[in-house]
Amino acid sequence: MYTVAQLVGGVWGAGGDGGELVVRDPADDTPVSTVPVATADEVGKATQAARNAAAQWAATAPAERAAALHRAADAVAAVIDELAAAVTAEMGKPLADARGGVEAGIGTLRQYAELAPLRGGRTLNGEADALDFLTPQPRGVVAAITPWNDPVAVSCGLLGAALVTGNVVLYKPSERTPATGWLLARALDQALPAGVLSLLTGGPEVGAALAAQEVDVVAHVGSTATGRAIAAAAARTGAKLLLENGGSDPLIVDAGVDPEWAAEQAALGAFANAGQICVAVERLYVHREVADDFVAALVRRAEALRLGPGRDPGTELGPLVDRRHRDHVHGQVAAAVADGARVRVGGEVPDGPGAFYPATVVTDCRHDMPLVREETFGPVAPVVVVDSFDEALRCAADSPYGLAATVLTRSMSHAQRAWRELPVGTVKVNAVFGGAPGGAAHPRRASGQGFGYGPELLDEFTATKAVHIEAPGGGHW
Ligand code: NAD
Repeated sequence: MYTVAQLVGGVWGAGGDGGELVVRDPADDTPVSTVPVATADEVGKATQAARNAAAQWAATAPAERAAALHRAADAVAAVIDELAAAVTAEMGKPLADARGGVEAGIGTLRQYAELAPLRGGRTLNGEADALDFLTPQPRGVVAAITPWNDPVAVSCGLLGAALVTGNVVLYKPSERTPATGWLLARALDQALPAGVLSLLTGGPEVGAALAAQEVDVVAHVGSTATGRAIAAAAARTGAKLLLENGGSDPLIVDAGVDPEWAAEQAALGAFANAGQICVAVERLYVHREVADDFVAALVRRAEALRLGPGRDPGTELGPLVDRRHRDHVHGQVAAAVADGARVRVGGEVPDGPGAFYPATVVTDCRHDMPLVREETFGPVAPVVVVDSFDEALRCAADSPYGLAATVLTRSMSHAQRAWRELPVGTVKVNAVFGGAPGGAAHPRRASGQGFGYGPELLDEFTATKAVHIEAPGGGHW
Protein backbone atom coordinates (compact mmCIF):
# COMPACT_ATOMS: atom_id res chain seq x y z
CA MET A 1 0.00 0.00 0.00
CA TYR A 2 1.41 3.37 -1.03
CA THR A 3 0.97 6.34 1.29
CA VAL A 4 1.26 9.36 -0.94
CA ALA A 5 2.52 12.72 0.37
CA GLN A 6 2.45 16.15 -1.22
CA LEU A 7 5.52 18.31 -1.89
CA VAL A 8 4.91 22.03 -1.31
CA GLY A 9 7.57 24.73 -1.07
CA GLY A 10 10.28 22.06 -0.90
CA VAL A 11 8.63 20.28 2.06
CA TRP A 12 7.36 16.72 1.77
CA GLY A 13 4.21 15.87 3.67
CA ALA A 14 2.77 19.38 3.54
CA GLY A 15 -1.01 19.95 3.52
CA GLY A 16 -3.66 17.50 2.49
CA ASP A 17 -6.44 18.95 4.62
CA GLY A 18 -8.99 18.34 1.86
CA GLY A 19 -9.42 14.70 2.89
CA GLU A 20 -8.12 11.41 1.59
CA LEU A 21 -8.64 9.35 -1.56
CA VAL A 22 -8.12 5.61 -1.85
CA VAL A 23 -7.11 4.10 -5.20
CA ARG A 24 -8.07 0.47 -5.81
CA ASP A 25 -6.34 -2.09 -8.03
CA PRO A 26 -8.57 -2.42 -11.11
CA ALA A 27 -7.69 -6.12 -11.34
CA ASP A 28 -9.08 -7.14 -7.93
CA ASP A 29 -10.43 -4.02 -6.15
CA THR A 30 -7.85 -4.21 -3.32
CA PRO A 31 -6.70 -0.84 -1.98
CA VAL A 32 -3.39 0.30 -3.49
CA SER A 33 -2.80 3.92 -2.47
CA THR A 34 -4.02 6.44 0.05
CA VAL A 35 -3.73 9.98 -1.15
CA PRO A 36 -4.06 13.37 0.55
CA VAL A 37 -6.35 15.87 -1.13
CA ALA A 38 -5.12 19.46 -1.36
CA THR A 39 -7.46 22.28 -0.36
CA ALA A 40 -7.85 25.32 -2.60
CA ASP A 41 -5.98 27.32 0.05
CA GLU A 42 -3.06 24.88 -0.10
CA VAL A 43 -3.01 25.14 -3.88
CA GLY A 44 -2.78 28.93 -3.55
CA LYS A 45 0.06 28.70 -1.02
CA ALA A 46 1.91 26.17 -3.18
CA THR A 47 1.63 28.53 -6.15
CA GLN A 48 3.05 31.40 -4.09
CA ALA A 49 5.91 29.20 -2.86
CA ALA A 50 6.65 28.13 -6.42
CA ARG A 51 6.63 31.78 -7.54
CA ASN A 52 9.21 32.56 -4.83
CA ALA A 53 11.52 29.84 -6.19
CA ALA A 54 11.12 30.82 -9.84
CA ALA A 55 13.69 33.62 -10.24
CA GLN A 56 16.63 31.62 -8.95
CA TRP A 57 15.89 28.58 -11.14
CA ALA A 58 15.36 30.81 -14.17
CA ALA A 59 18.77 32.41 -13.54
CA THR A 60 20.51 29.02 -13.27
CA ALA A 61 22.74 28.35 -16.28
CA PRO A 62 21.01 26.17 -18.89
CA ALA A 63 23.86 23.63 -18.77
CA GLU A 64 23.43 23.34 -15.01
CA ARG A 65 19.69 22.78 -15.37
CA ALA A 66 20.37 20.16 -18.02
CA ALA A 67 22.83 18.39 -15.71
CA ALA A 68 20.15 18.36 -13.00
CA LEU A 69 17.69 16.81 -15.44
CA HIS A 70 20.21 14.10 -16.33
CA ARG A 71 20.59 13.34 -12.60
CA ALA A 72 16.79 13.30 -12.34
CA ALA A 73 16.64 10.76 -15.18
CA ASP A 74 19.20 8.63 -13.28
CA ALA A 75 17.03 8.83 -10.17
CA VAL A 76 13.95 7.72 -12.13
CA ALA A 77 15.93 4.87 -13.70
CA ALA A 78 16.95 3.73 -10.21
CA VAL A 79 13.28 3.14 -9.30
CA ILE A 80 12.09 1.84 -12.66
CA ASP A 81 10.74 -1.44 -11.25
CA GLU A 82 8.92 0.32 -8.43
CA LEU A 83 7.38 2.82 -10.85
CA ALA A 84 6.26 0.15 -13.32
CA ALA A 85 4.69 -1.87 -10.49
CA ALA A 86 2.83 1.22 -9.27
CA VAL A 87 1.47 1.94 -12.76
CA THR A 88 0.19 -1.64 -13.07
CA ALA A 89 -1.29 -1.65 -9.57
CA GLU A 90 -3.06 1.69 -10.01
CA MET A 91 -4.30 1.59 -13.62
CA GLY A 92 -3.98 -2.05 -14.61
CA LYS A 93 -1.82 -2.17 -17.74
CA PRO A 94 0.42 -5.22 -18.29
CA LEU A 95 3.69 -4.86 -16.40
CA ALA A 96 5.90 -5.01 -19.51
CA ASP A 97 3.91 -2.12 -21.05
CA ALA A 98 4.12 -0.19 -17.79
CA ARG A 99 7.89 -0.66 -17.79
CA GLY A 100 8.01 0.46 -21.43
CA GLY A 101 6.20 3.67 -20.45
CA VAL A 102 8.73 4.38 -17.69
CA GLU A 103 11.63 3.71 -20.08
CA ALA A 104 10.06 6.09 -22.60
CA GLY A 105 9.79 8.72 -19.86
CA ILE A 106 13.45 8.35 -18.89
CA GLY A 107 14.42 8.63 -22.57
CA THR A 108 12.41 11.83 -22.87
CA LEU A 109 14.06 13.37 -19.80
CA ARG A 110 17.47 12.64 -21.27
CA GLN A 111 16.52 14.02 -24.69
CA TYR A 112 15.36 17.27 -23.16
CA ALA A 113 18.50 17.47 -21.04
CA GLU A 114 20.58 17.21 -24.23
CA LEU A 115 18.46 19.45 -26.44
CA ALA A 116 17.57 22.34 -24.15
CA PRO A 117 21.02 23.95 -23.79
CA LEU A 118 21.46 23.81 -27.57
CA ARG A 119 18.35 25.79 -28.37
CA GLY A 120 18.83 29.52 -28.52
CA GLY A 121 17.30 32.55 -30.12
CA ARG A 122 18.52 34.35 -33.21
CA THR A 123 20.22 37.57 -34.06
CA LEU A 124 18.68 40.18 -36.34
CA ASN A 125 20.32 42.42 -38.90
CA GLY A 126 19.61 45.91 -37.65
CA GLU A 127 21.62 49.14 -37.55
CA ALA A 128 25.40 48.65 -37.51
CA ASP A 129 25.83 50.22 -34.07
CA ALA A 130 22.83 48.44 -32.51
CA LEU A 131 22.29 44.94 -31.23
CA ASP A 132 19.05 43.20 -32.11
CA PHE A 133 18.24 39.66 -31.09
CA LEU A 134 15.44 37.32 -30.05
CA THR A 135 16.02 35.27 -26.94
CA PRO A 136 13.91 32.61 -25.23
CA GLN A 137 13.23 33.01 -21.53
CA PRO A 138 11.52 30.75 -19.00
CA ARG A 139 7.85 31.54 -18.66
CA GLY A 140 7.86 31.21 -14.87
CA VAL A 141 5.37 28.97 -13.05
CA VAL A 142 3.95 25.99 -14.93
CA ALA A 143 0.95 23.94 -13.76
CA ALA A 144 1.26 20.43 -15.23
CA ILE A 145 -2.00 18.45 -14.96
CA THR A 146 -1.68 14.89 -16.23
CA PRO A 147 -3.76 11.75 -16.97
CA TRP A 148 -3.47 8.12 -15.90
CA ASN A 149 -3.26 6.15 -19.14
CA ASP A 150 0.53 6.43 -19.63
CA PRO A 151 1.30 8.37 -16.50
CA VAL A 152 5.10 8.31 -16.40
CA ALA A 153 5.82 8.91 -20.09
CA VAL A 154 3.36 11.80 -20.32
CA SER A 155 4.51 13.42 -17.06
CA CYS A 156 8.20 13.13 -17.94
CA GLY A 157 7.58 14.97 -21.20
CA LEU A 158 5.83 17.94 -19.61
CA LEU A 159 7.94 18.08 -16.46
CA GLY A 160 11.26 17.51 -18.20
CA ALA A 161 10.67 20.19 -20.85
CA ALA A 162 9.26 22.73 -18.38
CA LEU A 163 12.00 22.26 -15.79
CA VAL A 164 14.99 22.21 -18.12
CA THR A 165 13.87 25.46 -19.77
CA GLY A 166 13.98 27.15 -16.35
CA ASN A 167 10.38 27.02 -15.16
CA VAL A 168 9.21 25.90 -11.74
CA VAL A 169 6.48 23.27 -11.87
CA LEU A 170 3.35 22.52 -9.88
CA TYR A 171 2.62 18.90 -10.77
CA LYS A 172 -0.88 17.47 -10.34
CA PRO A 173 -0.99 13.81 -11.40
CA SER A 174 -4.24 11.98 -12.05
CA GLU A 175 -6.27 10.92 -9.03
CA ARG A 176 -6.27 7.45 -10.61
CA THR A 177 -2.44 7.17 -10.57
CA PRO A 178 -1.33 9.36 -7.66
CA ALA A 179 1.26 6.96 -6.19
CA THR A 180 2.89 6.75 -9.60
CA GLY A 181 3.04 10.55 -9.68
CA TRP A 182 4.39 10.63 -6.14
CA LEU A 183 7.16 8.10 -6.88
CA LEU A 184 8.11 10.06 -9.98
CA ALA A 185 8.13 13.39 -8.14
CA ARG A 186 10.25 11.87 -5.34
CA ALA A 187 12.84 10.73 -7.86
CA LEU A 188 12.92 14.04 -9.76
CA ASP A 189 13.02 16.11 -6.58
CA GLN A 190 16.27 14.41 -5.48
CA ALA A 191 18.07 16.12 -8.35
CA LEU A 192 16.45 19.56 -8.17
CA PRO A 193 16.83 22.55 -5.84
CA ALA A 194 14.14 22.68 -3.16
CA GLY A 195 10.96 24.41 -4.30
CA VAL A 196 11.51 23.95 -8.04
CA LEU A 197 9.07 21.04 -8.21
CA SER A 198 5.85 20.79 -6.18
CA LEU A 199 3.39 17.91 -6.03
CA LEU A 200 -0.30 18.48 -5.38
CA THR A 201 -2.68 15.54 -5.19
CA GLY A 202 -6.41 15.00 -5.33
CA GLY A 203 -9.17 14.94 -7.89
CA PRO A 204 -10.69 17.30 -10.47
CA GLU A 205 -11.32 19.98 -7.85
CA VAL A 206 -7.59 20.20 -7.15
CA GLY A 207 -6.85 20.46 -10.86
CA ALA A 208 -9.51 23.17 -11.17
CA ALA A 209 -8.08 25.11 -8.20
CA LEU A 210 -4.63 24.90 -9.80
CA ALA A 211 -5.85 26.01 -13.23
CA ALA A 212 -7.48 29.05 -11.58
CA GLN A 213 -4.17 30.27 -10.08
CA GLU A 214 -2.10 33.13 -11.47
CA VAL A 215 0.37 30.80 -13.15
CA ASP A 216 2.19 31.43 -16.42
CA VAL A 217 1.38 28.19 -18.23
CA VAL A 218 -1.23 25.51 -17.72
CA ALA A 219 -0.24 22.32 -19.49
CA HIS A 220 -2.98 19.71 -19.51
CA VAL A 221 -2.96 16.24 -21.00
CA GLY A 222 -6.36 14.64 -20.55
CA SER A 223 -9.93 14.68 -21.73
CA THR A 224 -11.44 17.29 -24.00
CA ALA A 225 -14.09 18.25 -21.43
CA THR A 226 -11.39 19.01 -18.87
CA GLY A 227 -9.30 20.84 -21.44
CA ARG A 228 -12.24 23.12 -22.17
CA ALA A 229 -12.80 23.86 -18.48
CA ILE A 230 -9.10 24.67 -18.12
CA ALA A 231 -9.21 26.91 -21.19
CA ALA A 232 -12.06 28.87 -19.61
CA ALA A 233 -10.04 29.29 -16.41
CA ALA A 234 -6.93 30.35 -18.31
CA ALA A 235 -8.96 32.92 -20.22
CA ARG A 236 -9.51 34.65 -16.87
CA THR A 237 -5.88 34.54 -15.66
CA GLY A 238 -4.09 35.03 -18.98
CA ALA A 239 -2.02 31.87 -18.56
CA LYS A 240 -0.64 30.32 -21.73
CA LEU A 241 -2.34 27.03 -22.53
CA LEU A 242 -0.97 23.76 -23.75
CA LEU A 243 -3.71 21.18 -24.30
CA GLU A 244 -3.23 17.58 -25.44
CA ASN A 245 -6.74 16.19 -25.28
CA GLY A 246 -9.00 13.41 -26.49
CA GLY A 247 -9.29 11.86 -29.90
CA SER A 248 -11.38 9.53 -31.99
CA ASP A 249 -8.79 8.28 -34.41
CA PRO A 250 -10.00 6.63 -37.61
CA LEU A 251 -8.45 3.63 -39.33
CA ILE A 252 -9.16 3.32 -43.04
CA VAL A 253 -8.86 -0.16 -44.55
CA ASP A 254 -8.65 0.31 -48.32
CA ALA A 255 -9.67 -2.14 -51.03
CA GLY A 256 -6.91 -4.49 -52.09
CA VAL A 257 -5.09 -4.81 -48.76
CA ASP A 258 -4.35 -8.17 -47.13
CA PRO A 259 -7.21 -8.55 -44.62
CA GLU A 260 -5.11 -10.62 -42.19
CA TRP A 261 -2.41 -7.96 -42.04
CA ALA A 262 -5.02 -5.20 -41.78
CA ALA A 263 -6.69 -7.04 -38.88
CA GLU A 264 -3.35 -7.39 -37.11
CA GLN A 265 -2.84 -3.62 -37.39
CA ALA A 266 -6.41 -2.89 -36.29
CA ALA A 267 -6.14 -5.19 -33.26
CA LEU A 268 -2.92 -3.55 -32.18
CA GLY A 269 -4.40 -0.08 -32.60
CA ALA A 270 -7.73 -0.81 -30.91
CA PHE A 271 -6.75 -3.21 -28.11
CA ALA A 272 -3.25 -2.15 -26.91
CA ASN A 273 -3.43 -0.78 -23.35
CA ALA A 274 -7.08 -1.93 -23.47
CA GLY A 275 -7.75 0.88 -25.94
CA GLN A 276 -6.73 3.50 -23.37
CA ILE A 277 -4.29 5.36 -25.62
CA CYS A 278 -4.98 8.85 -26.93
CA VAL A 279 -4.06 7.68 -30.44
CA ALA A 280 -5.85 4.32 -30.20
CA VAL A 281 -7.89 3.23 -33.21
CA GLU A 282 -11.41 4.31 -32.25
CA ARG A 283 -13.38 3.79 -35.51
CA LEU A 284 -12.76 1.70 -38.60
CA TYR A 285 -13.88 2.48 -42.16
CA VAL A 286 -13.45 -0.72 -44.12
CA HIS A 287 -13.92 -1.12 -47.87
CA ARG A 288 -16.77 -3.51 -48.68
CA GLU A 289 -14.46 -5.58 -50.87
CA VAL A 290 -12.34 -6.74 -47.88
CA ALA A 291 -14.84 -6.25 -45.05
CA ASP A 292 -15.95 -9.86 -44.45
CA ASP A 293 -12.44 -11.32 -44.41
CA PHE A 294 -11.15 -8.41 -42.36
CA VAL A 295 -13.87 -8.71 -39.70
CA ALA A 296 -13.38 -12.50 -39.46
CA ALA A 297 -9.63 -12.02 -38.92
CA LEU A 298 -10.17 -9.22 -36.38
CA VAL A 299 -12.64 -11.35 -34.41
CA ARG A 300 -10.06 -14.18 -34.26
CA ARG A 301 -7.43 -11.79 -32.94
CA ALA A 302 -9.81 -10.36 -30.33
CA GLU A 303 -10.73 -13.88 -29.16
CA ALA A 304 -7.08 -14.87 -28.85
CA LEU A 305 -6.08 -12.04 -26.50
CA ARG A 306 -5.40 -13.24 -22.95
CA LEU A 307 -7.35 -11.12 -20.46
CA GLY A 308 -5.96 -10.93 -16.94
CA PRO A 309 -4.28 -8.87 -14.23
CA GLY A 310 -1.45 -6.72 -15.52
CA ARG A 311 1.00 -8.25 -13.06
CA ASP A 312 0.65 -11.73 -14.68
CA PRO A 313 3.37 -12.07 -17.33
CA GLY A 314 0.98 -13.89 -19.71
CA THR A 315 -1.59 -11.08 -19.75
CA GLU A 316 -2.11 -9.29 -23.04
CA LEU A 317 -5.22 -7.32 -22.12
CA GLY A 318 -5.40 -5.85 -18.62
CA PRO A 319 -8.49 -4.39 -16.95
CA LEU A 320 -9.82 -0.93 -17.68
CA VAL A 321 -8.74 1.73 -15.22
CA ASP A 322 -11.85 1.40 -13.04
CA ARG A 323 -15.52 0.47 -13.09
CA ARG A 324 -16.67 4.02 -13.73
CA HIS A 325 -14.70 3.97 -16.95
CA ARG A 326 -15.95 0.47 -17.80
CA ASP A 327 -19.53 1.73 -17.45
CA HIS A 328 -18.71 4.47 -19.97
CA VAL A 329 -17.20 2.00 -22.46
CA HIS A 330 -19.97 -0.56 -22.12
CA GLY A 331 -22.63 2.17 -22.26
CA GLN A 332 -21.39 3.23 -25.70
CA VAL A 333 -21.36 -0.38 -26.94
CA ALA A 334 -24.86 -1.06 -25.56
CA ALA A 335 -26.23 2.14 -27.13
CA ALA A 336 -24.81 1.15 -30.54
CA VAL A 337 -26.38 -2.31 -30.25
CA ALA A 338 -29.73 -0.77 -29.33
CA ASP A 339 -29.34 1.31 -32.50
CA GLY A 340 -28.78 -1.67 -34.79
CA ALA A 341 -25.09 -2.56 -34.42
CA ARG A 342 -24.00 -6.19 -33.93
CA VAL A 343 -21.45 -7.42 -31.40
CA ARG A 344 -19.27 -10.04 -33.10
CA VAL A 345 -17.07 -10.78 -30.08
CA GLY A 346 -16.86 -9.37 -26.54
CA GLY A 347 -19.32 -6.66 -25.57
CA GLU A 348 -20.26 -8.23 -22.23
CA VAL A 349 -19.27 -7.16 -18.75
CA PRO A 350 -17.63 -10.18 -17.10
CA ASP A 351 -18.62 -11.37 -13.63
CA GLY A 352 -16.12 -11.10 -10.81
CA PRO A 353 -13.94 -8.43 -9.26
CA GLY A 354 -12.08 -5.70 -11.08
CA ALA A 355 -12.85 -3.63 -14.15
CA PHE A 356 -12.18 -6.14 -16.92
CA TYR A 357 -13.72 -5.70 -20.35
CA PRO A 358 -13.08 -8.04 -23.27
CA ALA A 359 -11.71 -7.09 -26.67
CA THR A 360 -14.86 -6.22 -28.61
CA VAL A 361 -15.63 -6.05 -32.31
CA VAL A 362 -18.87 -4.34 -33.34
CA THR A 363 -20.14 -4.40 -36.93
CA ASP A 364 -23.11 -2.85 -38.72
CA CYS A 365 -22.09 0.49 -37.27
CA ARG A 366 -23.02 3.82 -38.78
CA HIS A 367 -20.81 6.88 -38.87
CA ASP A 368 -23.31 8.90 -36.81
CA MET A 369 -23.35 6.55 -33.78
CA PRO A 370 -21.74 7.92 -30.58
CA LEU A 371 -19.64 4.71 -30.42
CA VAL A 372 -18.08 5.86 -33.69
CA ARG A 373 -18.04 9.63 -33.23
CA GLU A 374 -17.10 9.95 -29.57
CA GLU A 375 -13.95 8.81 -27.77
CA THR A 376 -14.58 5.36 -26.24
CA PHE A 377 -11.12 4.79 -24.71
CA GLY A 378 -11.70 1.07 -24.38
CA PRO A 379 -10.85 -2.16 -26.27
CA VAL A 380 -13.61 -1.70 -28.82
CA ALA A 381 -13.37 -1.79 -32.62
CA PRO A 382 -16.53 -0.41 -34.30
CA VAL A 383 -16.59 -1.23 -38.01
CA VAL A 384 -18.31 0.93 -40.62
CA VAL A 385 -18.36 -0.59 -44.11
CA VAL A 386 -17.78 1.91 -46.94
CA ASP A 387 -18.04 1.65 -50.72
CA SER A 388 -15.11 3.81 -51.75
CA PHE A 389 -11.91 5.41 -50.53
CA ASP A 390 -13.60 8.78 -51.01
CA GLU A 391 -16.34 7.82 -48.58
CA ALA A 392 -13.79 6.53 -46.06
CA LEU A 393 -11.76 9.73 -46.26
CA ARG A 394 -14.88 11.89 -45.92
CA CYS A 395 -16.03 10.02 -42.80
CA ALA A 396 -12.52 9.99 -41.30
CA ALA A 397 -12.29 13.76 -41.71
CA ASP A 398 -15.76 14.39 -40.31
CA SER A 399 -15.01 14.47 -36.58
CA PRO A 400 -14.96 16.98 -33.76
CA TYR A 401 -11.46 15.65 -32.96
CA GLY A 402 -8.19 16.01 -34.85
CA LEU A 403 -5.49 13.95 -33.18
CA ALA A 404 -4.28 11.23 -35.58
CA ALA A 405 -5.42 8.86 -38.32
CA THR A 406 -4.14 5.68 -39.97
CA VAL A 407 -4.65 4.50 -43.54
CA LEU A 408 -3.90 0.97 -44.72
CA THR A 409 -3.58 1.05 -48.49
CA ARG A 410 -1.53 -0.24 -51.42
CA SER A 411 -2.26 2.92 -53.40
CA MET A 412 0.33 5.68 -53.30
CA SER A 413 -2.22 8.21 -54.50
CA HIS A 414 -4.60 7.25 -51.67
CA ALA A 415 -1.73 7.58 -49.19
CA GLN A 416 -0.95 11.02 -50.60
CA ARG A 417 -4.54 12.12 -50.42
CA ALA A 418 -4.81 10.89 -46.82
CA TRP A 419 -1.87 12.86 -45.46
CA ARG A 420 -2.78 15.97 -47.40
CA GLU A 421 -6.52 16.04 -46.70
CA LEU A 422 -7.09 14.66 -43.20
CA PRO A 423 -7.42 17.51 -40.67
CA VAL A 424 -5.44 15.81 -37.89
CA GLY A 425 -2.05 16.21 -36.24
CA THR A 426 -0.52 12.89 -37.26
CA VAL A 427 -1.16 10.66 -40.27
CA LYS A 428 0.23 7.11 -40.34
CA VAL A 429 0.23 5.04 -43.50
CA ASN A 430 0.38 1.24 -43.23
CA ALA A 431 1.30 1.15 -39.51
CA VAL A 432 -0.93 2.11 -36.59
CA PHE A 433 1.96 3.05 -34.33
CA GLY A 434 5.52 4.15 -34.93
CA GLY A 435 7.37 7.18 -36.20
CA ALA A 436 10.81 8.72 -36.08
CA PRO A 437 12.20 10.16 -32.83
CA GLY A 438 11.41 13.80 -32.27
CA GLY A 439 8.00 13.70 -33.92
CA ALA A 440 5.67 16.49 -32.80
CA ALA A 441 2.40 17.66 -34.27
CA HIS A 442 -0.33 20.17 -33.62
CA PRO A 443 -3.53 18.47 -32.50
CA ARG A 444 -6.58 20.13 -34.01
CA ARG A 445 -9.98 21.27 -32.76
CA ALA A 446 -11.23 19.30 -29.73
CA SER A 447 -7.96 17.39 -29.50
CA GLY A 448 -6.07 20.38 -28.16
CA GLN A 449 -3.53 23.02 -29.02
CA GLY A 450 0.24 23.42 -28.98
CA PHE A 451 3.10 20.94 -29.32
CA GLY A 452 2.87 18.39 -26.51
CA TYR A 453 5.93 16.42 -27.58
CA GLY A 454 9.22 16.64 -29.42
CA PRO A 455 11.83 19.41 -29.35
CA GLU A 456 9.08 21.97 -30.00
CA LEU A 457 7.71 21.36 -26.51
CA LEU A 458 10.80 23.19 -25.23
CA ASP A 459 9.64 26.26 -27.15
CA GLU A 460 6.16 26.00 -25.65
CA PHE A 461 7.66 26.51 -22.19
CA THR A 462 9.71 29.56 -23.14
CA ALA A 463 8.66 33.06 -24.12
CA THR A 464 10.60 34.79 -26.87
CA LYS A 465 11.79 38.27 -26.06
CA ALA A 466 12.91 40.76 -28.74
CA VAL A 467 15.82 42.96 -27.65
CA HIS A 468 17.09 46.13 -29.32
CA ILE A 469 20.15 47.85 -27.83
CA GLU A 470 21.67 51.14 -28.96
CA ALA A 471 24.58 53.09 -27.58
CA PRO A 472 23.59 55.82 -25.11
CA GLY A 473 23.11 59.40 -26.34
CA GLY A 474 26.44 60.79 -27.55
CA GLY A 475 27.37 57.59 -29.30
CA HIS A 476 29.76 56.06 -26.72
CA TRP A 477 29.21 53.10 -24.41
P1 NAD B 1 -9.00 14.01 -17.36
O1 NAD B 1 -8.95 15.28 -18.15
O2 NAD B 1 -10.25 13.60 -16.74
O3 NAD B 1 -7.92 14.09 -16.19
C1 NAD B 1 -6.60 14.53 -16.44
C2 NAD B 1 -6.17 15.44 -15.30
O4 NAD B 1 -7.03 16.58 -15.28
C3 NAD B 1 -6.28 14.79 -13.94
O5 NAD B 1 -5.14 15.12 -13.19
C4 NAD B 1 -7.56 15.39 -13.37
O6 NAD B 1 -7.61 15.43 -11.97
C5 NAD B 1 -7.51 16.78 -13.95
N1 NAD B 1 -8.82 17.45 -13.99
C6 NAD B 1 -10.05 16.88 -14.11
N2 NAD B 1 -11.00 17.84 -14.14
C7 NAD B 1 -10.37 19.03 -14.06
C8 NAD B 1 -10.80 20.39 -14.09
N3 NAD B 1 -12.08 20.72 -14.19
N4 NAD B 1 -9.85 21.36 -14.04
C9 NAD B 1 -8.54 21.05 -13.97
N5 NAD B 1 -8.07 19.79 -13.92
C10 NAD B 1 -8.97 18.78 -13.97
O7 NAD B 1 -8.42 12.89 -18.34
P2 NAD B 1 -8.10 11.36 -17.97
O8 NAD B 1 -9.37 10.60 -17.86
O9 NAD B 1 -7.15 11.33 -16.84
O10 NAD B 1 -7.31 10.91 -19.25
C11 NAD B 1 -7.89 10.32 -20.39
C12 NAD B 1 -7.98 11.34 -21.50
O11 NAD B 1 -6.69 11.86 -21.77
C13 NAD B 1 -8.48 10.77 -22.79
O12 NAD B 1 -9.41 11.65 -23.35
C14 NAD B 1 -7.22 10.72 -23.67
O13 NAD B 1 -7.46 10.81 -25.04
C15 NAD B 1 -6.47 11.91 -23.17
N6 NAD B 1 -5.05 11.84 -23.46
C16 NAD B 1 -4.57 12.63 -24.46
C17 NAD B 1 -3.22 12.57 -24.81
C18 NAD B 1 -2.68 13.42 -25.93
O14 NAD B 1 -1.48 13.50 -26.08
N7 NAD B 1 -3.53 14.06 -26.73
C19 NAD B 1 -2.37 11.71 -24.12
C20 NAD B 1 -2.90 10.91 -23.09
C21 NAD B 1 -4.25 11.00 -22.77
